[in-house]
Amino acid sequence: MSGSPAGVVVVGAGLGGIRVAESLRANDYTGPITLIGAETHPPYDRPPLSKSVLLGDDDRVDLKPAEFFAESSIALRTGERVSAISPDDHTVTIERLDDPAHSETLVYDTLILATGLLPRPLPGTDEIAGVHVLRTVDDALALRADAESATRAVIVGAGFIGCEVAASLSARGMTVTIVEPAPTPLAAALGEQIGALVTRMHKERGVDVRTGIGVDEVLTDGSRVRGVRLADGSEIDADIVVVGIGSTPVIDYLDGSGIEVAAREFGGGIACDQHGATSVPDVFALGDVANWRDEDGQLRRVEHWTHTVEQATAVAHRVTGSDAMIPASAPYFWSDQYGLKIQVLGSPRATDDVHVVDDDGAKFLAYYSRDGILTGVVGAGKVGAVMKTRAKLLTPTPISEVLG
Ligand SMILES: Cc1cc2nc3c(=O)[nH]c(=O)nc-3n(C[C@H](O)[C@H](O)[C@H](O)COP(=O)(O)OP(=O)(O)OC[C@H]3O[C@@H](n4cnc5c(N)ncnc54)[C@H](O)[C@@H]3O)c2cc1C
Repeated sequence: MSGSPAGVVVVGAGLGGIRVAESLRANDYTGPITLIGAETHPPYDRPPLSKSVLLGDDDRVDLKPAEFFAESSIALRTGERVSAISPDDHTVTIERLDDPAHSETLVYDTLILATGLLPRPLPGTDEIAGVHVLRTVDDALALRADAESATRAVIVGAGFIGCEVAASLSARGMTVTIVEPAPTPLAAALGEQIGALVTRMHKERGVDVRTGIGVDEVLTDGSRVRGVRLADGSEIDADIVVVGIGSTPVIDYLDGSGIEVAAREFGGGIACDQHGATSVPDVFALGDVANWRDEDGQLRRVEHWTHTVEQATAVAHRVTGSDAMIPASAPYFWSDQYGLKIQVLGSPRATDDVHVVDDDGAKFLAYYSRDGILTGVVGAGKVGAVMKTRAKLLTPTPISEVLG
């Protein structure tokens, strides 16, 4: 090897990948940075996919203007996939998607993995026209194109993405049914009490919310979907079925690398310490694919935008040895449904005590507590009130103090 540095190789040109590359430059890292992305698009933002892109207001929201990459000396390689890692040699193997026979080896000094998730499909539905998942801009544009000529949609799964797609398709004028085995939408994340308020939000817009029951079978007319059969034998007609039943971390390329993967019961993904270091020297992971230890040493994998950005900053600091302070922050994410911003601040759990302090029939605000201590706040259309709680979530605050 010559004396010139191999630099940083970032695998995954999504939110986490671009943000860590940008933060490295902001921390005055001057070595080569190569950003490798399996999609053919430059880094773009995913939250708009289920919102403004489905509504037809945007086609793609890029995270950086095209000139950013040359100006920042970041070599962006799209349409290329890392298929293997060899930590002993400090190399990755890269395949071109349009020419799988061609492969290349790239040397790294530091490797950062930000490969995100793949949506979980409903088994056996891959080949059925009209059945969609939503992770990429290509998924979103395909769903939107299909929705142009469709009138009835069934959404399988009432997590955040399912709920947002239901809201967007209903705003497009479609007849929408949500099917969810849990007792309410968002039950696993926020509990049934808030889930019931979210159910109300959807029902008021005419969306049919079928909870406590799953989809047994996707029905077809030859090759195209015509509906679903539920576990009780009832059928719902549909021109489109959108599957939002969760995602799995993209880690296939780790095979044989020795990089430790977290067990499924701990969330899966790439196991990391509290600062994003994997089990192998000079290799870090961040974003949706990464499972960092929290302050209590517990593995915790999070699939949210702000979390990814914060991890990207932290990894860039670690790689460059920066001792700049990262301000303390409470975990945060949001969801947009029917023009209302649902915000979740802190670490509320479905099993926490829930205190709904404001509910005008549309907007609401609730605090969460565990053992008498505030754990989080959830608001719909309550941006100011949610954000005001931020400082209280950084130190143990008795819920009695918050409720007054
Ligand atoms: C539809 C949708 C709506 C969302 N809305 C919200 C929201 O409202 N609020 C919120 O907080 N969060 C939201 N999120 C979550 C947020 O977008 C993610 O947390 C964030 O994108 C994670 O960034 P990432 O870099 O970890 O992964 P990604 O953005 O998924 O980027 C990973 C990239 O790595 C690439 N890749 C994978 N394997 C390889 C490989 N072997 N070689 C090269 N490249 C590879 C992938 O193709 C992908 O482009 C939403 C997500 C989706 C899908």
